Amino acid sequence: MNENGNRLELPASIAVRDLAQRIEKSPIEIIKKLMTNGVMATINQPVDFDTAAIVVAEYGFEAIPETVVEVATEEAGEVPLWRQMIAGEDASQLTARPPVVTILGHVDHGKTSLLDAIRQTNVAAGETGGITQHIGAYQVELKGRTITFLDTPGHAAFTAMRARGAQGADIVVLVVAADDGVMPQTREAIAHAKAARVPIVVALNKVDRPNANPERVKQQLAELELVPDDWGGQTLVVPVSARQKQGIGDLLEGVLLVADNADIRANPNGKVIGTIIEGELDKSKGVVATLLVQNGTLQAGDIVVAGTAYGRLKAMNDYRGKPIKKAGPSTPALVMGLSDVPSAGDVFEVVGSDREAREIVTGRTDAIKKKAQERKKVSLEDLFSAYEKGEAKSLSLVLKADVQGSLEPILGELEKLGKGEIAINVLYSETGNIGENDVMLASASKAIILGFSVQAEVPARRLAEVEGVDIRLYDIIYRLTEDVEKALKGMLAPEFEEKRLGRAQVLKVFGISKVGKIAGCRVLEGELRRNAKVRLKRGADIVFEGEMSSLKHEKDDVREARTGFECGVGFKNFHDIEPGDMIECYVLEKSE
Ligand code: GDP
Repeated sequence: MNENGNRLELPASIAVRDLAQRIEKSPIEIIKKLMTNGVMATINQPVDFDTAAIVVAEYGFEAIPETVVEVATEEAGEVPLWRQMIAGEDASQLTARPPVVTILGHVDHGKTSLLDAIRQTNVAAGETGGITQHIGAYQVELKGRTITFLDTPGHAAFTAMRARGAQGADIVVLVVAADDGVMPQTREAIAHAKAARVPIVVALNKVDRPNANPERVKQQLAELELVPDDWGGQTLVVPVSARQKQGIGDLLEGVLLVADNADIRANPNGKVIGTIIEGELDKSKGVVATLLVQNGTLQAGDIVVAGTAYGRLKAMNDYRGKPIKKAGPSTPALVMGLSDVPSAGDVFEVVGSDREAREIVTGRTDAIKKKAQERKKVSLEDLFSAYEKGEAKSLSLVLKADVQGSLEPILGELEKLGKGEIAINVLYSETGNIGENDVMLASASKAIILGFSVQAEVPARRLAEVEGVDIRLYDIIYRLTEDVEKALKGMLAPEFEEKRLGRAQVLKVFGISKVGKIAGCRVLEGELRRNAKVRLKRGADIVFEGEMSSLKHEKDDVREARTGFECGVGFKNFHDIEPGDMIECYVLEKSE
């Protein structure tokens, strides 16, 4: 417990259950207190610091913000892609180019509204009467300077780009609603931006709302190492209202200021290279794609290779739909003429001839096939050998746990372990099941996902399979930290393979007081073994994976139950069982 006299350290958000535990009260009592304060919350629901502070004050505690456990983040040394793109250019030829900005933030915090507000207030409406089509990017002018905005809000696009090693954006505008504050996707966005080494400007949106609380949001940001400039920090936090179109000019000025510090440059006469923003097949026009030029100048008629697509550019338009002949650095261009639909995030380049383009594409197609065959997971088992070969200096982790109260001790332990030769870099830690976004983030940063008392959702498992991401689930903290410790010392046993022991079907579910739910089942094949692992499936979905808490035949505890027998199975910390569910029982054996 973090008590100091009657002071109580509390995190930015805490589940009701954990809050109750910290002040040694029953969760029901806390829920009632919250209700009298007008907050309806369930036992697992997180409440923010201010709310928790009011509750604990009623028990005589003074809440103070918890000191955040900082796990080193400096090691993840990714260089933004555009810097790699200009690495071969003669430094004397580099000139400043417009910054490319992407907008990230929690759902409903106003990403789309902000993109619209910026578009409406600052795009030179001019001859075409504003933008009528969306091509995935647009440009605005401010004081004679240009800013390019990627108009594909949401993490999926940004993460997909990073996952492919590409990086279109130079600056992230992080939208945080002033009435809602930092939320899980806000943290996720920060983790992405930090991992990609892209600077952040915060748009503190919805300041027009009566319940807006900018100071609270700044406090939350400061806790996440984004200390606002007016608090003496480095992060520009600009109050805006996308709805009332207020503060937009200030935000754009902020972006330009950050851009000036980031020294964003390119050689307009150099090698033509950039990133695919969008691509689609249009029924009448064929393949249309939005290309963001990052170095050199793209010209109509150029031969372009993008991933495994190539072709001579037949037509080129700007973001307003106006035909253009040239597109310099940071310019988005809508092009036609590619053989195939390229993927967002693919890097494109201009080559000298059709033949050269074909050769590159054939080479790439072969390489993709080969890579698919020999794809190897970034696994905890491989960590130490990678370290010995000089390939890994740090272990990147994504940590998911059931409640805030579990995250903190784990982070604390990991911090201690990361003080050795191999540093530990926790990219992101949050409560909740492991989802696709977690896998994307892990894949992009070659991280391993550790789950504590959580499940990996089915789409996340599938994606992890494809991306070669190692997901490890634990329900005892020391097992988790022990595995990490062993991996850091090269002592982790080699990978295990699953050996199926048997299968049983749940026929009936019994509720037993104090114990919870028991599955009454029949073994259909093989056997269920008490100390083996089990997986509970509902149709194709895996609803639980872990251990049994009991295996009984009639009233007796048994070590195994064979084909044809009926038995009662209890699952450790899991009670959501339904008749018809299938139980798979397996052991993990060392693979050769
Ligand atoms: P997104 O999910 O982040 O793209 O959020 P949206 O742009 O769709 O906005 C979510 C909701 O918040 C919509 O109902 C918007 O009208 C509203 N909203 C966005 N910006 C503001 C703002 O500055 N002030 C107010 N009051 N509402 C806003």
